[in-house]
Amino acid sequence: MSGLLQGTGESADYGRSRTYEFRHCWVHVSPGYTETVYHDGSRVCAAPELNETYFAKAERYGYGRDVAALSREHEILHTFLAEKLGYGSSPTLWAVAHNHEGGVAPVWEMEEEETMVLAFQVYLNGGPAGEGVRRLTDAGLDLESLRVEALALLRE
Ligand SMILES: [Zn+2]
Repeated sequence: MSGLLQGTGESADYGRSRTYEFRHCWVHVSPGYTETVYHDGSRVCAAPELNETYFAKAERYGYGRDVAALSREHEILHTFLAEKLGYGSSPTLWAVAHNHEGGVAPVWEMEEEETMVLAFQVYLNGGPAGEGVRRLTDAGLDLESLRVEALALLRE
């Protein structure tokens, strides 16, 4: 699947479950929610909100009205991009999974990661490479290669 889904408020993948395996976690995708589970058993669950704010967010990041795809891909990309940057796992999701305890990422770093993931989602959906993706290019990563790889991972 590629391109934008418009108007349904549901993903074409709705109803499909899948598990992605990363270095330090699994990401389980289920109808309506996405769960990142670390090898130590800690987890983060995310679900799209069915309200106008979230619909507007989906549109802003290139998903039309597909809030499910925005949420699902966002969660997977946190870990995908963190691995590409050389982190073992997403500092943000790790912090959330561990209740922000035990030497986890500071808030500013989590905000920076959040901005980067969202900016990459815009780029993934054919939008411009905004300021937020600079962290990726500064690290020497090639945006277009990342895009191709991410699309294959997320939508094939
Ligand atoms: Zn996030």
